[in-house]
Amino acid sequence: MICLNVGFFHDCRAFGSTSRARLESKRNHQIQTRLLFSFPYFWRCSATLPLMAEVEQKTKFDTNSAASLVQDLRDSFSSGKTKSYEWRVTQLKSILKLVDDREKEIVEALRKDLSKPELESFVSEISMTRSACKLALKELKKWMKPEKAKTSMTTFPSSAEIVSEPLGIVLVISAWNYPLLLSLDPVIGAIAAGNAVVLKPSEIAPATSSLLAKFLEEYVDCSVIRVVEGAAAETSALLEQKWDKIFYTGNGRVGRIVMAAAAIHLTPVILELGGKSPVVVDSDINLQVAARRIIAGKWGCNNGQACISPDYIITTKVYAPNLIDALKCELEEFFGKDPLESEDISRIVNSYHFARLMKLLDEDKVSGKIVHGGQQDEAHLKIAPTILLDVPEDSLIMNEEIFGPLLPIITVDKVEDSFHVINSRAKPLAAYLFTNSKNLKEEFVRSISAGGMLINDTILHLATSTLPFGGVGESGMGSYHGKFSFDAFSHKKAVLYRSFGGDASARYPPYTARKQRLLKALLNGSIFGIIHALIGKD
Ligand code: NAD
Repeated sequence: MICLNVGFFHDCRAFGSTSRARLESKRNHQIQTRLLFSFPYFWRCSATLPLMAEVEQKTKFDTNSAASLVQDLRDSFSSGKTKSYEWRVTQLKSILKLVDDREKEIVEALRKDLSKPELESFVSEISMTRSACKLALKELKKWMKPEKAKTSMTTFPSSAEIVSEPLGIVLVISAWNYPLLLSLDPVIGAIAAGNAVVLKPSEIAPATSSLLAKFLEEYVDCSVIRVVEGAAAETSALLEQKWDKIFYTGNGRVGRIVMAAAAIHLTPVILELGGKSPVVVDSDINLQVAARRIIAGKWGCNNGQACISPDYIITTKVYAPNLIDALKCELEEFFGKDPLESEDISRIVNSYHFARLMKLLDEDKVSGKIVHGGQQDEAHLKIAPTILLDVPEDSLIMNEEIFGPLLPIITVDKVEDSFHVINSRAKPLAAYLFTNSKNLKEEFVRSISAGGMLINDTILHLATSTLPFGGVGESGMGSYHGKFSFDAFSHKKAVLYRSFGGDASARYPPYTARKQRLLKALLNGSIFGIIHALIGKD
C-alpha cells in the first residue's frame, strides 16, 4: 500500500496543485478502503477497534462516495484532456506497459482465482489484452478522423462528415471468468474513444480485482480512469449515478438490473451476456479435428466457464456414438486418464458455482445420462470433463446456461432438424457448425440468429478483431472489439457544412404555386420537374 502511494504521487506530479490535493485526498480514501478490506489484520489488536469503526464509517463505498467519484471524473473530463490524441495514446501505452510489467502477477492472480493454466492465461487474457491495446494504438488516428458523408440535392451546396466524440463518463462492470480481459478490453475501447472511465471488476475473482485496483490507477491517469472494487452493494451505488454509457458483462438477471438503473438516466447500455451456445455436428467431417476443436472451446477455455463455450451438441442418432468415442479419445490425450489431476484445466470458480453445476448433474432425469466423466473433487472445486447423451429437453441442464465442464449431446434424425431445436430457444451468443456441406453452411448462416457464428471451429471468432463481438436478444445488446470498441464508446455526431451562397428562396414563405412545384420536383429528384418549375410562371 505504501509503495502504491509513492507510485501514485510520482504519477500525479504532472497535475496542477489543486487537482493533486484532490487526488491525494482520493488516494487516502482508497488506502483507507483497502485498510478496511484488510480487516483480519486489525482484528488482532483490540486497541485499534475504535479506529477501525471510524475507518469503516469513513470508507464504505456508498451512494455518496459514488456520487463524489462521478463528480470528480466529470470535472476532470470537462477539462477536455481526454479528447486529445496524445492523451489517449499515452494511456493505451500505459496499459500495455502494465500488462508487460505485471505479467507474472497477472498469471499468479488468475491461478489463485481459477487455477487457470499459465498458457490459457497468456493466450486468452494477457495476449488478447495486449492485441486490443496494440490495435487501438495502431489504428487510433484513423478511427478518430471524421468520416466524410455524401450530401443530397436537397442541401446543395453542402458537405458533411461524421465526427466521433467521446460520450463522457462511462462505467465498465466486468465478470469473473476472464477477469483481466473482460475488464481491460472495454476500458481500452473507452479510453481510445476519449472517455473518462470507472472500472468495477468482479468480486468473484478477488485476486485479479485487487491487482487491477492496485496497478491500473498507478499506471494510467487516475484523475479520469478509476477502479472501484466491490460486490452488489458497491455496484448498486455506482449504478445509481448518471453515466454516459454503461458496459456490463455478466448474466442476464443482473443485466436487467443494470438496464433498469440506466433507464432512469436515459443512459445507453451495452450488455455482454451469455446463453446456451449450440454446436451442430454433421457426419461428413474430419472427426478428430472437430473433436479437438470442440474440446479446446469447451474444456480448454476455463473448463467451460466461458460465455461462448459450446453449451450443448446436436448431432444425428446414428453419428452420436462416433462423436462420443472421438471426444473421449482426445480428452484422454489432452488431460490424461485422471483429468482431476491435470494441471491443464481450470477449477470451478467457487463453491456456489460448484454446487450449481452439481445440481444440474444430479437431477434425476439427467444423472443416468452420463457417458463420460462425472468425477468431482469438491475440496479442490474440480469437475472432470463430462459428456451426457440424450438428456431430456425439459431438464435443468437444457434450460440454463451450463457455464462449466458438462456437455450434453442431443440427438436428432436428420442434421437439419437441429435448426428447429436452436430456433425454439433464446438466441445464443455463439452458434457452431461442423460440416463440409456448402448447403448446410448457407442454411445455418441464413436461418440461425446468434451473436456470432463459426463454421468448423469454436471460439476463434472472438479473436478476430475485424468482427463485432456481442449478443442478440437474450444473449445481449451492442458489441465491441477492434474498431467496434471505439464506436461503442463514441457518439457519432452528424455535421453538415453550408456556406452563405446558393440561398434558394423557394424554401421561404410566401409559398407560391411555383415554389411548391420547384420544391416538390427537387424532393422527388425530377430534373424535368425542376426545369419546368424554373421556367414556368407563378
Ligand atoms: P459476476 O458474478 O462476476 O457478475 C458480473 C458483475 O455484476 C460483477 O461485477 C458483479 O459485482 C456485478 N453484480 C452481481 N450482482 C449484482 C447486483 N445484484 N447488482 C449489481 N451488480 C451486480 O459474473 P456472472 O454474472 O456470474 O458471469 C457469468 C455470466 O456472464 C454468464 O452468463 C456468461 O455467459 C456471461 N459472460 C458474458 C460474456 C460476454 O462477453 N458476452 C463474457 C463473460 C461472461
